[in-house]
Amino acid sequence: MLKGKVAIVTGSTSGIGLATARALAADGADVMINGFGDAGAIEKLREGMAKECGVRVAYDGADMSKPAEITRMVENATRTLGKVDILVSNAGIQHTAPIEDFPAEKWDAIIAINLSATFHAIHAAMPQMKQRNWGRIINIASVHGLVASAQKVAYVAAKHGIIGLTKVVALETAATGVTCNAICPGWVLTPLVQKQIDDLAAREKLSPQQAKTKLLSEKMPSGDAVTPEQIGALAVYLCSDAAAQMRGAAINIDGGWVAQ
Ligand code: NAD
Repeated sequence: MLKGKVAIVTGSTSGIGLATARALAADGADVMINGFGDAGAIEKLREGMAKECGVRVAYDGADMSKPAEITRMVENATRTLGKVDILVSNAGIQHTAPIEDFPAEKWDAIIAINLSATFHAIHAAMPQMKQRNWGRIINIASVHGLVASAQKVAYVAAKHGIIGLTKVVALETAATGVTCNAICPGWVLTPLVQKQIDDLAAREKLSPQQAKTKLLSEKMPSGDAVTPEQIGALAVYLCSDAAAQMRGAAINIDGGWVAQ
């Protein structure tokens, strides 16, 4: 379905971004991956994905907290892969603390990486999408774009911001072939969440399994985590013709979290 399309997935060396890049590549898209990690491991991952899926896969190490690097990443994808049709803004970080203890530099970093980077990437990629009258912009928000949890002031603010940004971009492109939507996952067991499980285990003297069960069952009626692959499949759907009139949606995929 996506043969001939080019996608950028930010933060795709791990977790949800990696699964989403894989899903798009498996569907035929050429992909630019991005994110931090060991250079050798990233090169292996890039090569493996290209071989497995029979598509071109490039890597750009742009730091999503640096606007100029984000613009250069979009230029790099356009130069090396020919264009940018699909933009998945996924890179994100977390920090938890009550507001009075929340370090100002963590607030700045979370707003920069989880919110502003999405603006800069769309700003750079939009002109060519509009010119070809086709584009798919997918922002990985969170249930925390729809509801709040204590101790996550910067994350919740950034994710609510992403949903607002998604709606504005969807309205500005409503009469074009470019769509913009947000995906709002509940818990997905990635390194980003593992740290919260480890912290809970240490704080409440629980085994890793007990801490995982407690974290999941506090928020998700299903008691089961969402998998990165399920999010990748939803992103592929949003790239399909069937989703051409989905515009400005914030789609929760969350084991019932926000239905409560
Ligand atoms: P992860 O920690 O597994 O992956 C994060 C990715 O972002 C990595 O590839 C990392 O290298 C990259 N990254 C971090 N800082 C970066 C920077 N400054 N520049 C470029 N890349 C950077 O996390 P994940 O759980 O896969 O999270 C991905 C997205 O999904 C985030 O936006 C997160 O908020 C969102 N999300 C996660 C969950 C969850 O439960 N895991 C739930 C809802 C939403």
